[in-house]
Amino acid sequence: MAHKESPAIGIDLGTTYSCVGVWQHDRVEIIANDQGNRTTPSCVAFTDTERHVGDAAKNQIDMNPTNTIFTVKRLIGRRFSDPSVQSDIKLWPFAVVKGSADKPQIVVKHKGEEKKFYPEEISSMILSKMKEIAETYLACPVKHAVVTVPAYFNDAQRRATKDAGLIAGLNVLRIMDEPTAAAIAYGFDKISSNSAEKNVFIFDLGGGTFDVSLLAVKNGVFKVKATAGDTHLGGEDFDDRLVNHFIDEFKRKYNKDITTSPRALRRLRSACERAKRNLSSATQTVVEVDSLYEGIDFCSRISQARFEELNMDLFTNCMELVKKCLQDADTDKASVDVVVLVGGSTRIPKVQQLLNNYFDERQLISRGINPDEAVAYGATVQAAKLSGQGSREVEDLVLLDVTALSLGVEVTGGVMSVVIPRNTTIPTKQKTVYTTRHDNQTRVRFSVYEGERALTKDNYLLGEFALSGIAPALRHVPKLDVCFDIDANGILSVSAKDRTSGQKKKITVTNKKARLGNEVIEKIIKDAEMYRAQDEECRRKYESKNSLERYAYRMRNAMREENISSTLPFVTKMAIEDAVQETLIWVEDNQFPDVPESESRLRELKRICSPIDHA
Ligand code: ADP
Ligand code: MG
Repeated sequence: MAHKESPAIGIDLGTTYSCVGVWQHDRVEIIANDQGNRTTPSCVAFTDTERHVGDAAKNQIDMNPTNTIFTVKRLIGRRFSDPSVQSDIKLWPFAVVKGSADKPQIVVKHKGEEKKFYPEEISSMILSKMKEIAETYLACPVKHAVVTVPAYFNDAQRRATKDAGLIAGLNVLRIMDEPTAAAIAYGFDKISSNSAEKNVFIFDLGGGTFDVSLLAVKNGVFKVKATAGDTHLGGEDFDDRLVNHFIDEFKRKYNKDITTSPRALRRLRSACERAKRNLSSATQTVVEVDSLYEGIDFCSRISQARFEELNMDLFTNCMELVKKCLQDADTDKASVDVVVLVGGSTRIPKVQQLLNNYFDERQLISRGINPDEAVAYGATVQAAKLSGQGSREVEDLVLLDVTALSLGVEVTGGVMSVVIPRNTTIPTKQKTVYTTRHDNQTRVRFSVYEGERALTKDNYLLGEFALSGIAPALRHVPKLDVCFDIDANGILSVSAKDRTSGQKKKITVTNKKARLGNEVIEKIIKDAEMYRAQDEECRRKYESKNSLERYAYRMRNAMREENISSTLPFVTKMAIEDAVQETLIWVEDNQFPDVPESESRLRELKRICSPIDHA
């Protein structure tokens, strides 16, 4: 009940699009942004004069490809040397460099200067935007939020997302898995508390990530039985296939390689995304980009069948992951009661067809839930529940989440010893006993890993710590209690204790390599405030300039009315006309005039125009 006065919001921080909701009048309200759109591009752009977030950023992407940042979710919480980061960088028009401790940093030009941003900072700008959208709608400040992440996000990625919330000035009540949120959106509405347990299968194919989950739902309790997915599979990959298809076509037709121009690539990509959306409802479409490369106008056709062929292996891959998830849950596909479609890419007919073929057609639903909003909807329900805003119905909803990957420590021979198997319901606490390898060994190093492979070298190192002060004894005699504890946010703490000496060591797996330090975060928070202030300054500059411009036009129009201008002495008439003309030229020449200057010009113009200004 702690946050009753300040409403809590639910944010789906998507790879390509984000969405925000709030609990109001006993239901979820998905909030439209200033452009009237219910989802906002996860996109941030920097120009010589301004910073843009959302639609404004996406709209200018073709003109400013190297300073427009998108799909930053692919970077968050990852290391620069991560192979997936390396392969992503090759496709992006903006630059990413290696910062300290192998952290990636995005390089942009802003106001004529080179600036570097951590992925957390860019994500925080998107979260700030979503917060603002809610604040504008609610007309009050928003402090608390539930933010969603893909089920396959590891500890470092979850932490980095939480840090992004912190930088945006949000108290992140919970980091929640997207499929779980989608299930809540569905289950809360439809499943009555008296019905038998239902198996709900969530199929979420968005712009950048693919998640499938099998959930058991009964009496308002959601239990995640298994999850599978790919953090690197979604609509953008389908766009890529189309882009490559047309790059080849361009080569064949004109013997020119457009890949040398980031701008041409970006423009082609925008056209391809549009074409792809069209192909969800039409059997063929046209891709047209004027002056794509070296002045050549590009125009071509693509059929739905060709699009499907280009992506068939990716679609098949989706279905493989569906099977893997069911296998993990030890569940037959026939016992799946319902398949929920989530994410914009589930509108692709071929994807639906493959799902229809695999499951029984009757199991598929998407009706009643907008696939792009389901995740934010569920996050909003959860936010209401955690902040005590919701009705009793919301209060009754219990949520059980699971670990996406197995967690364990390295033992002799570089072998992964699993402490918490994947798909364990969280929060959870699991204990195990380890010992020493050598006689009189007083110090043992624990390396904590995440992953499904047998050898730790193939898994992901989360953190390391050493327990020292172990009572000397023969090898294999000491008993070291190791405890893995995962809280409701999916964040892991590991502790070790020597039973004889009582020596203890505990770490919250901070994953120093992947996580920004506290000082860095503090600095970023200051920077974020500065950027917000700059945005506000830009807005005020625009506003004062606009009112000057509007006034000048109003006076010009007034002068064009015979009955006004004909009554004026010649000198006055000339003075007004000159002043109006001069103002309009000045407005044209000064893109970003200072507020006092616009205001003083307005005052002066008003003085000159006073003989005709009776408004
Ligand atoms: P995310 O949560 O990953 O950001 P969304 O669920 O918002 O993604 O889906 C965005 C993706 O869906 C984009 O790749 C977009 O091109 C794609 N998309 C949206 N509408 C359609 C459509 N009608 N047909 C095919 N793909 C679509
Ligand atoms: Mg999504």
